[in-house]
Amino acid sequence: MLDNRHIRIDYPVWNALTRFPLSNREMSCLMYIISETLGYNKSKVEIPLKSFVCSTGMSKDNVCKMIRKLTTQRIIFVSKKANRTHSTYKFNTTWPSWKTLLRQKAALQSKIMYEIKAKIRQRDNHTCMLCGIVGNPLGHLFHVHHIDFNQTNNKNDNLITVCKKCHAKSHTVAMKEKLSKMIISINKKANELFPNESFLVKRKKPILVKRNK
Ligand SMILES: [Zn+2]
Ligand SMILES: [Zn+2]
Repeated sequence: MLDNRHIRIDYPVWNALTRFPLSNREMSCLMYIISETLGYNKSKVEIPLKSFVCSTGMSKDNVCKMIRKLTTQRIIFVSKKANRTHSTYKFNTTWPSWKTLLRQKAALQSKIMYEIKAKIRQRDNHTCMLCGIVGNPLGHLFHVHHIDFNQTNNKNDNLITVCKKCHAKSHTVAMKEKLSKMIISINKKANELFPNESFLVKRKKPILVKRNK
């Protein structure tokens, strides 16, 4: 049977949809809801769960998961009347009210972290501050270690460039204390030289050079 339906979506809504970070599975469920509603010029429609399963090829569990995610993001509204067996689905065309999930915040966070780390490596001349070996800024990048082990403390003082080997050794309480003390003394010196620009001072030398050979 030929299906001659057309789906009308306002351009700003379509545009928002294009930019909104949905997973393939979320998108698949959403497209199905859109075709069942706007495809029939309806704003909302009752859909049995098994129709989702047939149309998307996903398991019932996954369909439920995606519907929950789309609901949390306020991209769809789901309601169910007490006397009905199936839920009613509505595509929320008021796109400014869509909400991003935590995972997008996490993605943004990791992007910020990536930039912070790049700055720290640059500050430390791409050199491992513990053993002094020089890394390749264009090749494999050195790690940036949180001295106090707190991954959210991204202050300059708490971050240090280390090679992979030294990083492994950095996660001991003794090392944490040792590094904290050294940073304090370095900052003190830096503050004396450049009272306002302590963070801009490049570390020319590794702060701790291994003595055992
Ligand atoms: Zn670390
Ligand atoms: Zn090292």
